[in-house]
Amino acid sequence: MKVSSNPRRCFFAASNLRRNLFLTLALIVGSFSIASCKRNSNLDIGFMDSSNSNNTNQSNTTQNENMDVKGMADKQGQATQPDKGNFTVQYSDVRNPKYVQMNENFKKQHLLENIADEINATIAIPENVTITFRECGQPNAFWDPKTRSINMCYELMEQMTEDFRPVAKNEQDLNDKVVGAMTFAFIHELGHCLIDVLHLPSTGREEDAVDQLSTFVLLALNGEEGERMALSGAISWGIQYDKIAKSGKTAGELNMLWADEHSMDGQRFYNILCWIFGHNPEKYMALVNSPLPEQRAVRCPQEYTKLATAWLTLLKPYLKDGGAKASAHTQPMTGNMGNNTPTK
Ligand SMILES: [Zn+2]
Repeated sequence: MKVSSNPRRCFFAASNLRRNLFLTLALIVGSFSIASCKRNSNLDIGFMDSSNSNNTNQSNTTQNENMDVKGMADKQGQATQPDKGNFTVQYSDVRNPKYVQMNENFKKQHLLENIADEINATIAIPENVTITFRECGQPNAFWDPKTRSINMCYELMEQMTEDFRPVAKNEQDLNDKVVGAMTFAFIHELGHCLIDVLHLPSTGREEDAVDQLSTFVLLALNGEEGERMALSGAISWGIQYDKIAKSGKTAGELNMLWADEHSMDGQRFYNILCWIFGHNPEKYMALVNSPLPEQRAVRCPQEYTKLATAWLTLLKPYLKDGGAKASAHTQPMTGNMGNNTPTK
């Protein structure tokens, strides 16, 4: 059934998805900060204050928007592929006392459900998929093809909190960076999920392709905040790169990393920076030469255009707005640097 699509809906209903992710993650990052830094015991209240600072009219608007979004879950919109499934939320038992309260917060606030609603309103999928934040036993985030589930681990959020702490200016900045990097990781896993569920082709390494998707979604559709989130994603890989450089790993241990299906952490760091620069060369010119080498930078606008166009082409048949919003963001915003750069 074809229905008129809400013009506010777009590729991953980005603004609402971001807001819901932001609130969800801010809540639990705040909890980590409280656990590890008692003097900031009102940190998560600060986040909730900002989220609750809407006046009554705005709250009503949000409520109406949420109803609109829910209503789109089973609608076909302009997607040409059938919408036969939905993203749903599953909670798991948590044993580590550090994560118990966070798990309870998720259940009470229904924030994961709101994220699922946003994705359901945006994209048509042929089967049901589960989203869960859970205790995994190690810092990780992954798409599990057996259980058809996107799994985000509390341990990863805890690790990111510790990784970012030395470089954060203050607790607010720490929260923003962790939320940004976790959002990047979530959309990366959503990318793996979509490649599997929609049987999308990926001629390069899938890990690189879904880093591209995450960067594209954040940059193209989430404004300044999305740009900051993408930067946090890049910095999280830069921190891992730095750790490896200082780790004294043997050649054999490094070989395992070179052989891995993921690009090396340092490559992921430079890739994401390249796409951020390519998206808006004028705004991000300061990245060139420090740290992004100029030799790479000249190609980045082309790289960004190609990855954005490729992902939009792949996903368009499944997008309930027919890809209208995303298609406006497949070109760099400023500058023509590198448009005629030969491909080596
Ligand atoms: Zn991956």
